[in-house]
Amino acid sequence: MKIGEFPLEMQPYVIPGPGGRYIYECIHCSAKYGIEKLLYICPECKSVLMIKDEEWERLRSVPGHLWRKIFNYRSMLTMPATKGIYRYHELLGSVIPLDAVIYLGEGHTPVVAANDRLARWAGIPFYFKNDGQNPSASFKDRGMASAFSYLNTLIKNQGLSEVLAICASTGDTSAAAALYASYLTAGVKSAVLLPHGKVTPQQLGQPLGSGAKVIEIPGVFDDCMKIVEYLSENFAVALMNSKNAWRILGQESYSYEIAQTFDFDVSDLVVVAPIGNAGNITAILQGFLKLHDLGIITALPRVIGVQSEHANPVYLYYLEPSARNRKFRPVNVRPSVAQAAMIGNPVSMPRVVHLVEQYRELAGAGAVQVVEVSEQEIMDAMLTANRNGHVACTQGGESLAGIRRTVREHGVPDNRVAVLDATAHALKFATFQEKYFADSFEPEFEVIPKPELQNAPYLIAPPEDVPRPAPGSPLEADAFKEFVEYTAGAIAEMLELKRR
Ligand SMILES: *Cc1c(COP(=O)(O)O)cnc(C)c1O
Ligand SMILES: [Zn+2]
Repeated sequence: MKIGEFPLEMQPYVIPGPGGRYIYECIHCSAKYGIEKLLYICPECKSVLMIKDEEWERLRSVPGHLWRKIFNYRSMLTMPATKGIYRYHELLGSVIPLDAVIYLGEGHTPVVAANDRLARWAGIPFYFKNDGQNPSASFKDRGMASAFSYLNTLIKNQGLSEVLAICASTGDTSAAAALYASYLTAGVKSAVLLPHGKVTPQQLGQPLGSGAKVIEIPGVFDDCMKIVEYLSENFAVALMNSKNAWRILGQESYSYEIAQTFDFDVSDLVVVAPIGNAGNITAILQGFLKLHDLGIITALPRVIGVQSEHANPVYLYYLEPSARNRKFRPVNVRPSVAQAAMIGNPVSMPRVVHLVEQYRELAGAGAVQVVEVSEQEIMDAMLTANRNGHVACTQGGESLAGIRRTVREHGVPDNRVAVLDATAHALKFATFQEKYFADSFEPEFEVIPKPELQNAPYLIAPPEDVPRPAPGSPLEADAFKEFVEYTAGAIAEMLELKRR
């Protein structure tokens, strides 16, 4: 819809203008730094940073109901820059000019209701929000759209060239970073560091296809992370991990979209997401807090983070009820089907601690929970979801297993509805489905397939005397008829079809 077609009183708001004054703020010592240079840790105390708008107060002069209208009207605007995460420009990147925005189709992912059978299985009515339907098939695109739009802003403003975008990855960060880097024409190259043998073939193929330098390293993600941290502290590179606070800003769009999908009434929602490096849960909490602060939502939803027993440092941390006695200890991860979240020392842990405290102050101690699930529960949940019309990956299965476990152990008030983050597309994690179907999990995974969830192709093998076609040598008419009749007969018998 063209700007002139919007109601007169909405026209000044529909196209977002540049505004605000962004700074990096240290989560630990509160030191502030300008954003002209990319910064990942506090030069003073080495802690992680968050991005703050020092002119945030100005946004409060717009009442909540008007913000809601602005976002609703803006969704009708035909302008690529506001088609993705920047529908919420004022909340997550107002200093980025619209002509620097990189939009590759990310965001506004489908919210799909569970059918009755699956809802009964979970113990609660719920929706999957399918972030696997982003361009590189995971939610990481939200953060990359933000980080690369800002990088593009720097390139335009400061004439940067020869930028090397670098990241460590459990598979999806590298796919997203390589995709966005390949779109930028102005001298941006990308390199990704992957733990050898710890990403799926599909995830390995993605950055290769985008033309990135793909570097495999022995060990697990946490080892790769240490290496890119070293590189980013000692060399001129742009770090694209969620340590880069621009990633967090972009990922806040997930919360904004949920709010808008539910007409900005999220008071009865339980939002569930898997936790790995803890960037996603940070962004989700921060997103809802910002909406609440501006009166765009009037109550905060419950948030549940889920971890596998094989990579559970955040779960263990919150097991201690007294905040004063909690002590964070990294864990050594064990093989996990939720491989994208298989992280023992999450970079965003200090951000989580900070935000959970704020969130619980506003919404009560039960407003944020972290639960743990077994590998078996994750696989069974993913396959059950996929047998009910969803395209959830193993981490999406982790979300479902997490809410199911929560309902069983603690119950959930009747009026609650859950929104589960299906963080990537099932196809990226086909390897684990295959292992389940073939009963070929290595013992460390501790997954025993349930026969009712297994599946395998049937091969129809006609006997010697039945002719069969082969590539390049089709059958003559009579022989082909014989082949069709034999094969159709075998299928009819197998499927117990009735003659008509
Ligand atoms: C990265 C990732 C996660 C974990 O998210 P964090 O922000 O690292 O906590 C979960 N699922 C998928 C599919 C991912 O790619
Ligand atoms: Zn500091």
